[in-house]
Amino acid sequence: MVARRVIAAMALGIAASAMLGGCASTTAGGAVGAERKQLLLVSSQELDQAAAQGYAKLKADAAAKGALNQDKALLQRVKAIAGRLTPQTKIFRPDAPGWKWEVNVITSEQINAFVMPGGRIMVYTGLARRLELGDDELAVVIGHEMSHALREHSREQVSQALAAQTAIGLGAALFGLGQGSADVAAVGYQALVATRFSRTDENEADRMGLELMARGGYDPRAGVSLWQKMIKAKSGAQPPEFLSSHPTDASRVQTIQSLLPTVMPLYAAARPR
Ligand SMILES: [Zn+2]
Repeated sequence: MVARRVIAAMALGIAASAMLGGCASTTAGGAVGAERKQLLLVSSQELDQAAAQGYAKLKADAAAKGALNQDKALLQRVKAIAGRLTPQTKIFRPDAPGWKWEVNVITSEQINAFVMPGGRIMVYTGLARRLELGDDELAVVIGHEMSHALREHSREQVSQALAAQTAIGLGAALFGLGQGSADVAAVGYQALVATRFSRTDENEADRMGLELMARGGYDPRAGVSLWQKMIKAKSGAQPPEFLSSHPTDASRVQTIQSLLPTVMPLYAAARPR
C-alpha cells in the first residue's frame, strides 16, 4: 500500500524534524497576543497544494450546479470586507498581505464560510441570508476564518496527527493518497474544510479576527451579535454547518466581550471620520 508507506516514511521523519526545531509560531502576536508555539512538521507548501485542489474542486462543483458567484451583491460585500482586512494581516505576519487571496460565494442554504490555507475564502449565501448579517457581522466571520489560515491551524493539526502516528485522520487523509488527484482533492476538501479546530485554535481565531476587523474599520462589537445569532440558529430546523466545526456557547460571547477593551481603540483609530 502506497498510503501506508508514505505515512510510515513521514512518521520516521518526525523525530528528526522535531529535533530540528519543528516548533515555531506562524504569526507575531499583534495586540491580542497570538504567539503560542506550534508543532509544524509539514510544510506550508504541502498544505497549500492540498488546499488548491480542494478549493478548485469546490468551485468546479458549485459552477456545475450554477451556484458559483451568482449572488453578485454578496460577492461584492465579501470582496470589500476581504479587501479591507487583508492589508491588516501584516500585523500578524508580513508575508500575508502578499498572499493570493481569493474570494468566492456559493449559493446554498448552508450557514457556512471558511478560508482554506493560503487565503482561499468561501462564503455560503445561507450565512448572510439566514442570519441576516450586516457588514460588521460578516467581517467577524471572515476575520475569524482568515485567522485560522494565518495561524496555519490546519498545518498544525496535520502535524499533530503525524506526531501521534495516527495513520487515520487528517495526516493520512491528506498525505496518504499518493496518486488519484481526484481522491486527494476530495479528501483534502474534507480535511481542510470540515476541520474541527481545537478550543485553543478557536480562541486564537476569535482574538485575531477581532483585531483584524477592528483595524480594518469594522465594529468589533458585532462579534457579540454574530455569535448570539449563531447560538440562536443552533436550535433551528437546520442548525448552522458552521457550528459543527465551531462549537459555540455563551463562553465564546464572554471571551469576545472581554476583548473589546483591547480592540475598540483600534477600531476608533481606523474608523473614517
Ligand atoms: Zn474557527
